[in-house]
Amino acid sequence: ARAQAMEVVASPEVTYDDIGGLDDQVREVREAVEDPLENPGMFEEVGIDPPSGVLLYGPPGTGKTMLAKAVANETDAAFIKMAGSELVQKFIGEGSRLVRDLFKLAAEREPAVIFIDEIDAVASKRTDSKTSGDAEVQRTMMQLLSEMDGFEERGNIRIIAATNRFDMLDEAILRPGRFDRLIEVPKPNVEGRKRILDIHTNSMNTDDDVDLTELAELLDDYSGADVASLATEAGMVAIRDEWDTVTMADFEAAYEKLSKTDSTGIGPIS
Ligand code: ATP
Repeated sequence: ARAQAMEVVASPEVTYDDIGGLDDQVREVREAVEDPLENPGMFEEVGIDPPSGVLLYGPPGTGKTMLAKAVANETDAAFIKMAGSELVQKFIGEGSRLVRDLFKLAAEREPAVIFIDEIDAVASKRTDSKTSGDAEVQRTMMQLLSEMDGFEERGNIRIIAATNRFDMLDEAILRPGRFDRLIEVPKPNVEGRKRILDIHTNSMNTDDDVDLTELAELLDDYSGADVASLATEAGMVAIRDEWDTVTMADFEAAYEKLSKTDSTGIGPIS
C-alpha cells in the first residue's frame, strides 16, 4: 500500500498553457515556487526567505493539481504527490513514517515539488474528542511541520498543498515558515470558462456552429473539471450519433445530461 500512496512523475506533462482562467494564480505560483527553485540567490541578495510552503485552496476541480504539476514541469522538477487521506493510517507511527519517506524521496529526487492534496485530512482544527485516532493524526501533522522546518537546508525541494476546506485548517500549519503563501483558486468566471473550453476543445473536431462564448455563458458555476467533462460528453454524444464532428447541439445535449446527473457528482456542484 505504501508504494501506491505516493505518485512520482519525473516531469509531468501539464504546462501553464493548459490552465485556463487562472492567470493571477499562475503568476503567484511561479513567484513562490519557480523563482526560489531556479534562482535561490535572488532571495539571498534581497535578504528574505522564500515562501516555505504554498497552500492552494478552493472548490474541487478548479486546477490546483494542474498548477502544481505545471510548475514542476516548468522547473524540470520531479513531482511527488501524496493525498492527505493516505497519511491517516491505522497504526501508530505509520503516518509519520510516510511523511518522512515523502521528504526522503524528495531529497533523493531533487529538484522536486511535493504536492499534498487534501491537506485538511491531516491538518484540521483539533476536535474536542481526544480519541487516539486524533492523537495519531496530530502526530502526523507535527511530523510534517518538523520536516518543513528542516527542509531548507536540504536543497531544492518546494512543497505545495491543496484543500477544499480552508475553514477547517489548523492555524498551526499557516504560520510563517510553514504554509505561509496562500493562493485562492476559485471557479472560473465567464472569460475563464471560455478559455477552458478553448483548451479542452482544441484537439476536438468541432463544427463551425459551435459557439464557445455562448457555451461559456451557459455553464454558470461550472468548475474547470466540469467544463472538461462537458467537452468529453459532447464528443460521446457525437460518436453515439455517428457524426465525425461535434456540433453545438451535441454540447447542448451534453449540458442537459450533466445537469441531470448532478447528484452523482458528475455535474456542477452547487
Ligand atoms: P481537487 O480539489 O478535486 O483535487 P483540483 O483543483 O486539483 O481538484 P485538477 O485535478 O487540477 O483540480 O483538475 C481536474 C481536471 O479538470 C484537469 O485535469 C483538467 O482537465 C480540468 N481543469 C480543472 N481546472 C482547469 C483549468 N483552470 N483549466 C483547464 N482545465 C482545468
